[in-house]
Amino acid sequence: LRELVVITGASSGLGLATAVELSKSGKYFVVMAVRDVEKAKKVAKERGMPDGSYVAMKLELANLESVRDFVTNLKAFKAGRPLNHLICNAAVYLPTDPKPQFTDDGFEMSMGVNHLGHFLLVNLLLEDMAKAKNARCCIVGSITGNTNTVGGGLVYPQADLGNLSGLEKGMKQPITMADGKPFFGAKAYKDSKVCNMMTVAELNRRYHKDTGIVFSSMYPGCIAETALFREKRTWFRKLFPLFMKYVTGGYVSEEEAGERLAQVISDPRCNKSGVYWSWNGGAQTVGYWSPDGKPRGAGGSGGEIFENQQSDAVRNPVVAKKVWEFSKKAVGLS
Ligand code: NDP
Repeated sequence: LRELVVITGASSGLGLATAVELSKSGKYFVVMAVRDVEKAKKVAKERGMPDGSYVAMKLELANLESVRDFVTNLKAFKAGRPLNHLICNAAVYLPTDPKPQFTDDGFEMSMGVNHLGHFLLVNLLLEDMAKAKNARCCIVGSITGNTNTVGGGLVYPQADLGNLSGLEKGMKQPITMADGKPFFGAKAYKDSKVCNMMTVAELNRRYHKDTGIVFSSMYPGCIAETALFREKRTWFRKLFPLFMKYVTGGYVSEEEAGERLAQVISDPRCNKSGVYWSWNGGAQTVGYWSPDGKPRGAGGSGGEIFENQQSDAVRNPVVAKKVWEFSKKAVGLS
């Protein structure tokens, strides 16, 4: 019997590439958790995902009711079977929006979709995953939320959750940033990715021992051609992949990135909880990673998987605990 894996945002980019990889492996049945079911069905066919290896189900992360409905529908669909794996991959990146957008529940869009929607989803599915053997849960992270790398530390703006006053107050309109400061789209994305990685750390601390679920985060490399950069101008979308490929060496194709995320679910080596997985390809930018003081590649094509180290800010357990508690309150879990 195929293992059941839920992938959010499986209708494009990294999520789709991962869905293709896992469904074609013959070992997994993929639940494509997507905001546009028709689109997911279409791309699954186009990419040759075998019939009987996947289903597309509605999940609108910008609406907490939809998250709850998805969980109800998933439970009905799997009819008592455990959920083996969960990949929280969907995200929005809104760097050029001068004004904030809000989710149906009134959260700033990047924080609402990338972090809070997934936060609720994971919490609602934990019990089901605990029933599975060797369950794995991966929330896709990013170097942009990790200030000890070039991408996260030197490229303005930096992620900074500040005193968390925005999140503490519930993150709802007119609040737009976790630190309570005025809206800044590029930073909101980075802040949300820090929250993603802190959620993994906290899930690991709270639930790994008792449930056996393996929690991880990963950086897929720079997949410079995905729709994530849809807001950027045309010249940027043309030059960015070339820059990442030939200058930084951080470029990775969608297909290879999908293999990486699939590896986090399927590789016996990834059966360790609390890890932030990365790949050391793209050696031309020596020193891009500084996980253990050793120079690494930039995450680009080729290269081996390794346990990366997150920045001190991401690893701060006091802040992670607060992020957990404030997020729980924001999504109505406490
Ligand atoms: P894409 O924009 O291609 O994929 C994002 C997916 O999220 C899409 O399938 C999109 O759906 C879905 N999505 C967006 N909003 C919602 C919502 N409200 N509810 C449900 N689903 C939603 O980008 P990528 O593939 O590049 O990004 C995937 C992940 O990889 C993200 O977590 C991103 O942060 C991370 N990442 C990407 C990097 C890169 O270089 N591209 C680098 C580091 C991390 P739809 O198909 O309908 O648009």
